[in-house]
Amino acid sequence: MNVALIGAQWGDEGKGKMVDYLAAEAQIIVRFSGGANAGHTIVRGNEQFALHLIPSGILYPDKTVILGTGMAIDPEAMFAELEMLESRGIDWHGRVLVSDRAHIVLPRYRDIDKTMEAARRKPIGTTGRGIGVTYSMKASRDGVRLADLYDEDRLANLEPGDVEFIRAWVDRLAPLAIDLTDYLYHHRHSYILFEGAQGALLDLDAGTYPYVSSGMSGAAGAAAQGGVGPRSLDRVLGVFKAYSTRVGNGPFPTEFDTDSQSALCQFIRDTGREYGVTTGRPRRCGYLDLVALRYACLANSIDSLILTHLDVYDTLDSFEACVAYRVRGKILEYFPAAIRDLEDAEPVLRSFRGWKRSIADVKEYDQLPLEAKDYISFIEEYTGTAIDLVSIGYERERTIVRKSPWIRY
Ligand code: GDP
Repeated sequence: MNVALIGAQWGDEGKGKMVDYLAAEAQIIVRFSGGANAGHTIVRGNEQFALHLIPSGILYPDKTVILGTGMAIDPEAMFAELEMLESRGIDWHGRVLVSDRAHIVLPRYRDIDKTMEAARRKPIGTTGRGIGVTYSMKASRDGVRLADLYDEDRLANLEPGDVEFIRAWVDRLAPLAIDLTDYLYHHRHSYILFEGAQGALLDLDAGTYPYVSSGMSGAAGAAAQGGVGPRSLDRVLGVFKAYSTRVGNGPFPTEFDTDSQSALCQFIRDTGREYGVTTGRPRRCGYLDLVALRYACLANSIDSLILTHLDVYDTLDSFEACVAYRVRGKILEYFPAAIRDLEDAEPVLRSFRGWKRSIADVKEYDQLPLEAKDYISFIEEYTGTAIDLVSIGYERERTIVRKSPWIRY
């Protein structure tokens, strides 16, 4: 059975925790996009792991994790992460595999990345790790894949420094390479979790272009870049937070940006620990944007949603969510493509009652306060999509399951 999990906002929705939770029942975890620019945080007991390239399932001793075709792989960063895991007692040998169609990030791409960003009149806010350049090279057919590492004809196109870099890593990389489609065909009776990076609104095609990542971060990527066809995905799950955050530049219609909202912004940032895993930068915060969430559901065939960070609202008397945009006097209920429309959009807000108690120890959906259930029902109705899991804390056990994604209904 194949289950895909993607971020349904601008990333940082808590995918790492949910992949870690759902991976308990999977045998194989395939990360299908992004590179070392993504950061997932997983908390296990007293230990916290920040993963960038390696799929979150690695923390289980018996799971196979695969870096998929859509990933941009920086061998230096990948082996540094594997060494970090090893030093913390996680044996990865024999269970970390890499699609031989995945592209390699060459060191010179990082410099190109930084130069391109510096030359932009309006910077995108890239992390400067060369991921965007790797995808550009891929599209212009100048990239290098794992499968090309021994191909002298391909290497002849590269600069001497690139070849030197490749030769330094090839012997460690080659044993991890697999033909992903063939491998998954042979494991077609397994439970496979396809793990996304970033989020639906950062997808190259569906996101807020040009303020997007350069890869496929939506559900289509799980198929195309995860080595299977679109009809092989049995379920698509979308993870979203009770509010919204965004890192880097780009339009964010529901951002808290007035003085009167700054206390709420700081409260959410501190309570939800909204600081970047990779950079430590405070994240931009805002109201839950239901217009954007419904768009993410439609553009990705999301079967069910996973609501995270609901606990962050525990102490509030009331809170709001955006149900439409007012753009230069006109009400919009869909997510427009034009950046100018998104920048001019003022959120039309609906108010919800808070529950004013801790939900940290809730185990069953029925034990949630009525006000929390009202919020959930409203989101389900608005998006036309069921919320099957609710996360009420970063710990694994703080997860309420209404319907398991691993059961065929
Ligand atoms: P990802 O990139 O989508 O995996 O998200 P990040 O790991 O960047 O950010 C999610 C952060 O929220 C991490 O620090 C998680 O430990 C934390 N987190 C995940 N789920 C919850 C939740 O339900 N409640 C709270 N309070 N924190 C959560």
